[in-house]
Amino acid sequence: MSKIKVAELFYSIQGEGKYQGVPSVFLRTFGCNFKCAGFGMPRGELSDEVEDIAQVVHMYNEYKELPLVSTGCDSYASWDPRFKHLSPLLSTESIVGSIMGLLPNKTWVDEHLVITGGEPLLGWQRQYPDLLDHPDMTGLKEITFETNGTQQLTPEFREYLHNWNKVGREITFSVSAKLPTSGEKWEDAIKPEIVCTYEEVGTAYLKFVVATEQDIADAECAAGAYRKAGFTGYVYLMPVGGVESVYTLNAKNVALAAMKRGWRYSDRLQVPLFRNAWGT
Ligand code: SF4
Repeated sequence: MSKIKVAELFYSIQGEGKYQGVPSVFLRTFGCNFKCAGFGMPRGELSDEVEDIAQVVHMYNEYKELPLVSTGCDSYASWDPRFKHLSPLLSTESIVGSIMGLLPNKTWVDEHLVITGGEPLLGWQRQYPDLLDHPDMTGLKEITFETNGTQQLTPEFREYLHNWNKVGREITFSVSAKLPTSGEKWEDAIKPEIVCTYEEVGTAYLKFVVATEQDIADAECAAGAYRKAGFTGYVYLMPVGGVESVYTLNAKNVALAAMKRGWRYSDRLQVPLFRNAWGT
């Protein structure tokens, strides 16, 4: 039986991107190829906020007890090996059981499944078919993979998604491509040819997290590279910030910048609604 290392599994409202406002089950898998320690920091500097938490990791028994951070990756415990023990390896059978328990009607109505991370396409592509083919998952009509857009789909998973899509169901790739503000290198993070292959099996859109004019210029440059490679999906700009004080500082300017370019603006509804707490 397939197993997936699960950092979080919860029911909430999708706060970002195309499905904003849609009731959604979030499956946050463990593991990522990036660190994104630059978020919320002056350009060129990396956050070490998580170091203090790692020093006292023994104080925490569950993922949801961990402190939130305002700089660096806000999902740090979903990939940092020092927090690995807080993400259990669960059978797909037990994950489906938990998902059904989260759905308010104990069956799929209009809910959407978001497979997020970490980087959900990094290590678990072989396991997802077992999860999605479970009899209790037949009512599911829409999935989004929230990805950083650097992972190739395996030929087997690509074929699987192609067939899943054929019967009136929708697959979306919400591609949060990492700009230099993340602290990751451009050549590692901007992979247009890979993202174009996602469009062969579903809908894909780009979602750039920005705070400054320089970030917006970077987003423009990256969007140009994706377009040049043949990418046809929407482009979103989203303000940086996992805490409201940071987020409200730049939201309006980000919206104006999106409008100016004919791009879409994405809010982060989970911040004002739920203060970006775990499980939201
Ligand atoms: S790609 Fe996403 S999950 Fe991975 S380190 Fe960056 S922000 Fe965190």
